[in-house]
Amino acid sequence: MYGIIATWRMALEGITEADKMLKEGSSAGDAIETAVKAVEDFEYYKSVGYGGLPNEEMEVELDAAFMDGTTLDLGCVGGIKDFANPVSIARKLSKEPVNNFLVGAGAEKYAHRHGFERKNMLTERAKIHYHNRVVETSANTELKPYSGHDTVGMVCLDCEGNMTSATSTSGLFMKHPGRVGDSPVSGSGFYVDSNVGGASATGLGEDVMKGCVSYEIVRLMKDGMHPQQACEKAVKEFDADLKRRRNKAGDMSLIAMNNKGEWGCATNIEGFSFAVATENEDPTVYLVKFDEDGKQYFEVASKEWMDNYMKTRTAPLVRK
Ligand code: ASP
Repeated sequence: MYGIIATWRMALEGITEADKMLKEGSSAGDAIETAVKAVEDFEYYKSVGYGGLPNEEMEVELDAAFMDGTTLDLGCVGGIKDFANPVSIARKLSKEPVNNFLVGAGAEKYAHRHGFERKNMLTERAKIHYHNRVVETSANTELKPYSGHDTVGMVCLDCEGNMTSATSTSGLFMKHPGRVGDSPVSGSGFYVDSNVGGASATGLGEDVMKGCVSYEIVRLMKDGMHPQQACEKAVKEFDADLKRRRNKAGDMSLIAMNNKGEWGCATNIEGFSFAVATENEDPTVYLVKFDEDGKQYFEVASKEWMDNYMKTRTAPLVRK
């Protein structure tokens, strides 16, 4: 059995490529890196890699991670600037005996030394988003530091039973320089153990980190839960806990897969989508919905939804 699951519709092209690779016997490491890179390279996804939205000083700072669920090797970068594929740097770091998590200038020096591609990650489109946000702020409209969440997080299983997890993000739009979210933090943005399965998150990093939600899902799967049950239990309970203690809970959307290729997803927001492909299932985008009783269910994205998605992502952007 092989499979790959990822947060958001934006992962579809990447997981489609990964699915082909896995079918032909590629490793979970190569497949997931290829899939995440496809998202990083596509400039219209404004929260990952090239075209990612900048911090409050108009600089694109990227976070990424890679974990091998068989060896438990893990590599992470935080706040790295001007490199095309943070996930590849994270993967390379995962092979180092120490110094596996590098941030800022240290991460850039490492990437430079190892010949990773430099690229100015700030696009014209991202600059317009930045400009418009500044205009909105001075017009005094109600602004939240955070709206919507869009990190790509994946879990992959190959034919040999090896599993990996990886994430990549530009983090929160208008974040403070140096802010690092959950995405490169083990147990929060991702976790994988080939003996069990893996999970990955997107959402408000500050809250995801309070509950180490990815690790919690893997732990529940280890206790015998199906990935779907584990995701729902972890997200529901932690969301309720945050609301009890702090009166609010940030956005939290998690995906998971176990080492049999069974998968699950849970979220506390409307409008979450994810993409999955396994030996038994062609690459598919699902939308997460809630019924009147608040019970979560999935719907395969319609052709109309898919067309509209790309149209809105690539629509010309007007400078205010
Ligand atoms: N989790 C990311 C962060 O807090 C944001 C996101 O998922 O969009 O940096």
